[in-house]
Amino acid sequence: MAYDREKEIAIEATIAAAKLCEQVRQNIPPAMEKGDKSPVTVADYGSQALICKALAEVFPDDSVVGEEDATELQSPEMAENLTKVTNYVKEQIPDATPEQVVNWINQGNGKVRPRYWTLDPIDGTKGFLRQDQYAVALALVENGEVKVGVLACPAMPVENNQPGMLYVAVRGEGAMMKPIVGGQLTPIHVVKADDTANLRFVESVESSHGDQNRQNAVAKAVGITAESVRVDSLAKYGIVASGQAVLYLRLPSPKSPDYRENIWDHAAGAIVVEEAGGRVTDIHGKPLNFADGAKMVDNRGIVVSNGIIHDRVLSALKE
Ligand code: AMP
Ligand code: MG
Repeated sequence: MAYDREKEIAIEATIAAAKLCEQVRQNIPPAMEKGDKSPVTVADYGSQALICKALAEVFPDDSVVGEEDATELQSPEMAENLTKVTNYVKEQIPDATPEQVVNWINQGNGKVRPRYWTLDPIDGTKGFLRQDQYAVALALVENGEVKVGVLACPAMPVENNQPGMLYVAVRGEGAMMKPIVGGQLTPIHVVKADDTANLRFVESVESSHGDQNRQNAVAKAVGITAESVRVDSLAKYGIVASGQAVLYLRLPSPKSPDYRENIWDHAAGAIVVEEAGGRVTDIHGKPLNFADGAKMVDNRGIVVSNGIIHDRVLSALKE
């Protein structure tokens, strides 16, 4: 099948990265601060290093647009952190050197091209630090269309097993999930119900990443009466895709009206939901633009649904 190799490598690399993240999380690290004040940990860097190395080996011509770069990690004050990152990477690649780790991370500094990968090595770093949900997200985009998406959610509860769920989709082949540890990929589907009364919607834990008042009002307007479920990271896409919620709203925050969403925060989740039968647009009903750059400058906010209620949600947003 088309994209079999891409899917296989993406799954392997994402699981390896998830393992590194969980090892780091056993002794929760102090976060470092990036230039834009957002938190980053040794796990963000280690995860990006492992995934970029795996992609470079098999797809050396592909560009990778990742969230992190190693510039700050290379500064002399960060030497101790670089050693820590290298030591975590060495648990999986025993002969890795700090120089290689820096190079692998920086391979994720690629540009959007006709074919590229986009990577969030840890989405929801705040959730990761709080011992809540977070995700490792990797997607392959060709000519602006997401073709493969893999989402590892290492803290997602799994029945009768240790936590950690993997969501996978290939364009035209449906969406699947499996426990990160063991298990087989099984197909998943959104809830195809029109009656929203008992259904749930998801939104961010971080109130500054959306507009919770308006999100709740819109959910009510389409008949969702239950309280929202607040979840960090792209895990929200996995929750909609596997039928545990019918709607995920991410409306522009009144505190940052000019914010534009990053491709790595959405590409892998969007294909998983679409292939599970759902729909993903911005608040105006426009498709998400993965063709032009790391920021989706033409899109505002995000609406993710089971499909059936999507137009009703878009109408409610116009009011
Ligand atoms: P979540 O865990 O869903 O709240 O999303 C985490 C992501 O929110 C991070 O990866 C950031 O890129 C992104 N983010 C940061 N600031 C904002 C903002 N003002 N509005 C929307 N998303 C944001
Ligand atoms: Mg992110």
